[in-house]
Amino acid sequence: MSAERECAQAAACETVAVELGSRRYDILIGENLIAQAGTLLRPLLAQPRALIVTDTTVTELHLPTLERALTEAGIAFEAFVLPPGEQTKDFQHLAQLCERLLQAGMDRRSLLIALGGGVIGDLAGFAAAILLRGVDFVQIPTTLLAQVDSSVGGKTAIDMPQGKNLVGAFHQPRLVLADTGSLASLPRRQRLAGYAEVVKYGLLGDIDFFHWLETHGTGVVDGEAAALRHAVAVSCQAKAGIVARDETERGERALLNLGHTFGHALETEVGFGDDLLHGEAVAIGMYQEARLAARIGLAEPGLADRIAQALKSLGLPLEIPAGLDREAIVAAMRRDKKVAAGAVKFALPVAIGEVLTGIRVDAWEAWVRNDRRN
Ligand code: NAD
Repeated sequence: MSAERECAQAAACETVAVELGSRRYDILIGENLIAQAGTLLRPLLAQPRALIVTDTTVTELHLPTLERALTEAGIAFEAFVLPPGEQTKDFQHLAQLCERLLQAGMDRRSLLIALGGGVIGDLAGFAAAILLRGVDFVQIPTTLLAQVDSSVGGKTAIDMPQGKNLVGAFHQPRLVLADTGSLASLPRRQRLAGYAEVVKYGLLGDIDFFHWLETHGTGVVDGEAAALRHAVAVSCQAKAGIVARDETERGERALLNLGHTFGHALETEVGFGDDLLHGEAVAIGMYQEARLAARIGLAEPGLADRIAQALKSLGLPLEIPAGLDREAIVAAMRRDKKVAAGAVKFALPVAIGEVLTGIRVDAWEAWVRNDRRN
């Protein structure tokens, strides 16, 4: 039975398709999907064996459910457990993981399962992209951020001292299982960080969703089941559509970079730790980019304040952390992947539901250096 039909049989499960021709895949969204992973994954397996990559936190919380599900479906497995957190997304851990997977007898028919947040998804996905010149992998995202963003679309990467995600590959998963029930164990701060990426979808094209979030955002962040499921489903639909139209970011996909030019630079300068979570950096970035858009007359009046309200009312940060070296932030922004011919290209909000990409801003460096409102 196909994963989609299995999903259709489960109560409150939604399917979003990422239409990429022969590499098309489904995102299944609903509660208790990890417990059904064995039957959902079985049709994808060339052999009844899977290799799970996860982190120590998720190992305690959700790995036993996955192991039970695979065992019940007659799928043998081995789990590879990494330390949690952004610092794991580096060459050293990638090399260790690749070695351990090869030692475990991984071959071209092996299926890798990424069970965890965006860090595990990005790292395991990149390992799947490069090992044996590419093997299949499945995303089982367990953070809100990973369910609404990083598990969908095939961007995989590790960080470098020079910046975020600077070494990576496009490698699409075969299936995404977004078990919204797994988000119950997530600390509120992590759900809130994921919520920043949810707001992004409202800002970049879905004004009705933005309005919905103004009313139901608290429910999403507090972990209400129906609100979470709706937020994940709408976000995945938005991302799946963009990825299907522009898989490798030649155009429209750059919309998803809203908040990330500032955000990635702030993460790099803070040092990839728990002091500033990715979603928190994106929240600051979205607000600062709205202010930059206002400065150059691109944004409609009051837009930055409205964005600030949507983010701050739930507790997301807006301001560049005190004490960060502004010159270093400018330098990190210049190293961003979106730099072309030496010029930073911003994705900037114009109105709720409208973002423009590829925007060059004169003297943005001076604005970042001197804007002491922050
Ligand atoms: P994360 O993977 O570090 O997870 C956050 C923390 O939550 C970790 O400590 C993890 O162990 C823990 N955790 C995971 N699931 C849990 C659960 N269900 N209950 C309790 N704790 C749980 O961070 P993240 O926010 O998921 O992802 C951030 C990463 O995603 C960044 O590296 C970012 O660059 C990347 N990202 C990638 C894309 C993409 O398109 N590939 C998009 C957005 C973000």
